[in-house]
Parts: sequence; C-alpha cells; structure tokens
Amino acid sequence: SDRIMLGPLVAAVDQGTSSTRFLVFNAKTAELLSHHQVEIKQSFPKEGWVEEDPREILQSVYECMERTCEKLTQLNIDISNIKAIGVTNQRETTLVWDKETGEPLYNAIVWLDLRTQSTVERLINKTPGRNKNHLKHKTGLPISTYFSAVKLRWLVDNVLEVHEAVQSHRAMFGTIDSWLIWCLTGGRNGGVHCTDVTNASRTMLFNIHTMDWDPELCKYFDIPMEILPKVRSSSEIYGLMRISSSLKSGSLTGVPISGCLGDQSAALVGQMCFQDGHAKNTYGTGCFLLRNTGLKPVMSDHGLLTTVAYKLGRDKPAYYALEGSVAIAGAVVQWLKDNLGIVQSSVEIENLAAAVGTSYGCYFVPAFSGLYAPYWEPSARGIICGLTQFTNRSHLAFAALEAVCFQTREILDAMNQDSGIPLTQLQVDGGMTSNRLLMQLQADILCIPVVKPSMPETTALGAAMAAGAAEGVSVWSLKPEDLTAVTCEKFEPQINPEESEFRYARWKKAVQKAMNWETT
Ligand code: ADP
Repeated sequence: SDRIMLGPLVAAVDQGTSSTRFLVFNAKTAELLSHHQVEIKQSFPKEGWVEEDPREILQSVYECMERTCEKLTQLNIDISNIKAIGVTNQRETTLVWDKETGEPLYNAIVWLDLRTQSTVERLINKTPGRNKNHLKHKTGLPISTYFSAVKLRWLVDNVLEVHEAVQSHRAMFGTIDSWLIWCLTGGRNGGVHCTDVTNASRTMLFNIHTMDWDPELCKYFDIPMEILPKVRSSSEIYGLMRISSSLKSGSLTGVPISGCLGDQSAALVGQMCFQDGHAKNTYGTGCFLLRNTGLKPVMSDHGLLTTVAYKLGRDKPAYYALEGSVAIAGAVVQWLKDNLGIVQSSVEIENLAAAVGTSYGCYFVPAFSGLYAPYWEPSARGIICGLTQFTNRSHLAFAALEAVCFQTREILDAMNQDSGIPLTQLQVDGGMTSNRLLMQLQADILCIPVVKPSMPETTALGAAMAAGAAEGVSVWSLKPEDLTAVTCEKFEPQINPEESEFRYARWKKAVQKAMNWETT
C-alpha cells in the first residue's frame, strides 16, 4: 500500500497520575498524528495513602506504544519514521527496585500521599526555629510530604525488602521517568539509570545551584548516594529502545530516548514559554502554575517553589521557574464521581454545574492532601461550607469547579507579588481545560483572559520537542519562529471585578476554616 510521506516523526510517553499516553507528532509541523491512552489504577490502602503499581505503569506504556503503532500503520504512516522518543511523567512519585531482578520492591508512592506527615513534622521539629524552609536555599522547596526524599526515607525505614536491597547494594531509586527509561533501555540487561534535572529538582536531594545531587541533603535524609540515578539534561540521548517481549511489533527497537522532563516542565516547553516572564497553568489531577524566571533561581516570599524549568541540551544553560502547586484540581471531580457518585464521568460535571450557574453561596475547599501553595499546611482538611436546605448536587459541582479557579487565583496573586510584574493573561492546558465552563469561570475569577491552545496535549508536545531537538537527533527546531503558529481560544472575563472579589474573599474565609481543622 502507499505510504504517506511525512518526514521525521517524534513520539512521547506521557505518564501522568491518572493515565498513560503515547503520542506521535510530525517534527516539522508539531501536528499530532496518533495517540493512545490507558487509565492507571490508584490505590488508597489507608487514609491519606496513595499508591500505584510500577509494573502496571510500565505495561500501560507498552500497551500505548503498541496501539499507537497499530493506528499509525492503519493510517499508512511508516513507523520507522519515528526518530526519537521523549518521556514526561508525574513528578515526585517515588519507587525503589532491585537492579538484579528488575522487580519493584514496593508500589510507587504517589506525590499526593500523606503517609510521611509525621516524618515531616519530626524533621521540621529538629531544624533551627522549626523552619520548614530550612533547605530552601539549596532545593527551592519547603520540607513537605510532597517531595521524593521523605517518601524514599519511608520506604527504607518501613519496607524490609527495600532496606535489605539498600544494604546489599542492589537498590535503585527513581521517579517514574527513571523507572521507565531504565526498563525501556533494557532493564537488568544494561538499562540506563538516569533522570533529568527537572525531575531531580523535585526530590529534595538535588542542589538547584550546583545542578547535582547534594551530599549534605543526602545526609540530612540519610539516603545513600549510590542508589540515585545519574542526572542528565532534559534533551540528550540517554539510550536506545531495546526489544521487549511486551512490545510485539518490535517496531520501536533502536529508537533513541532523547527527551526527559517532569510533566509541568514539559508543558512549559510545549507552550513555548521560553522567556523570562512567560507562564502557563496546567489543570490535571492537581494544578500547576509555572512562570519562567530565566537563568536565575528566584526565591519566593509568598509560598511558591523554585524549580528547574528545563535544560535543553548538555551544553545549554538551565532555566528556572517559580511554581505554584495545587494538590487537588481534577481530583476533586474524580472524588465527586467515585466517592459521592453524583456524576458518572468527569465530563458530566460541566452540564451539572452549568444547570445552576452558581454555587449559591456554597464553598468547597478540597484540602484532601493538606494545602499546598501558598499555605503548605499538611494538617488542613477538606470542608464544604455555606450549605442551606436549597443546596443540591449541581451547586456542589459548581463549587468544586470554582474551587479549582480560586486556588489558581491564590497562586497567581502570589506569583504577581513575587515577580512584581502582573500577568496580563494566563496560558492554560491539561485534561480539565476541555471544560468550557471552568475556563470561563477562571477568566471571571482572575479578571484576566484565559488562553487555551487548540492542541491540548502540550505536555507530550514539550517532551517530543526536547527529544527531537537533542544532539544526534536534530529533527525538531526549538526556535519559536520556525514552529507553525498554534491556534488558541481566548476566554475573556465576563463578570464585574467587584463580584469576583466578593466571591474570592468568601473563599479565603472558607480556606481559614479548612486550615485550622485538625487543631481546633
Ligand atoms: P494527569 O496528567 O494528572 O493524569 P489529565 O491532564 O489527564 O491529568 O486530566 C485528568 C483530570 O482532569 C482528572 O482528574 C479528571 O477528573 C479531570 N477532568 C477531565 N475532563 C474533565 C472535564 N471535562 N471537567 C472536569 N474535570 C475533568
């Protein structure tokens, strides 16, 4: 049959908290040609615990690769045109495996997991002045349950297999990127144990100034450095795809894996936020607003994180970002679906909320995992307040969507204060942005326009760009002027700022009630 001539293609693995995707892009036009997506099961073995099965994650990657290749073949597109693969992933999620058997020694502890709350309290209590920002000068991060080091500490202390593997020098630590790259490049038969600077910057073991693992930080968390992956840039050839029995077609064998970025960094790249001051907000399980601060790490006075944005090549400089992280965004919709059963699917929430178009004074603070930015209060818990006899499930759905918007408003305010230059519009992406009501509400609550690209898979696009631009691959130009213009949709604020401020002030009151929950 006639093969369509397209030129070079670049693929990306997007391993998120709620699903895995594999996507293939045209390297010249950035057009998305084909993709496949598989949901990932999250388990909640105890209150506050969130785990995922690393084998299921790996299997989902193979399945997505296989299905996408089938779809391409059906489209008459030659798979051998795929010149590189990028990896982007849920950040901070932590696992340890045995390098000799290749088997994970425990489930992956997901970023949202709260089991380390007592460890975090113990660590903070022993720092001078009980300062949660004690390590911020090196890491850009507050001591929190969120980051990998405390999760790794928990694994070594509480899982015998992990403890023994560390003792006998068989343990390998990794975030999801490391696990996937190691497996895809051969696993126990010569797999490459590496991570990139963006993922490393979320572990709390990485010094964002020296751009390497920090012996003092490793000592603080009592982590042996030999179990850590090698830190590489976000765009270089890490290794080649190896044959796997899980990949029937074998068609990707030998393709270089040459891009690696944590999901939020990948979205920043995919949105082409390459200049100081450029920002984007991604609405997935959580919500993450990142603002490029150029070549200098900027420390926040308002509860934001300082993180490595990207380093696109071994000899290229590292760019930094300020980040506002919200733990629960899409997850509140999942909660309404799975725990209350008021919708059958996430998509239904839009019509349910639109049916009333107001929360009728109901405020929902979904502090299920404590509150992240700008509060960093692990003991906060979710509350729903302002209920009357009149409140129904539609109002609750509306309040949940509004909560996502208010949380974004809080981090945008913090970002504007830290940088002194207010954003005049907000670039957005992520699974939730298909919800048009949410986008309009967001513009109303921020009082600035919200701009959404027509191609929603910006996270995967960023990873593909990094992979395609890597030295030795060089099929993708990163110069914005070489990239075909992306079309966008703009949501303008429609309510008056007074009403917006009134509702925001109410929200803040509700947050105060959630904050003091466990102590009063
Ligand atoms: P992640 O990368 O964290 O896995 P995604 O970007 O895939 O997340 O987005 C999935 C999240 O978005 C889920 O939590 C889901 O509940 C939510 N979501 C998806 N579509 C909608 C929608 N139309 N309205 C509201 N929430 C949605």
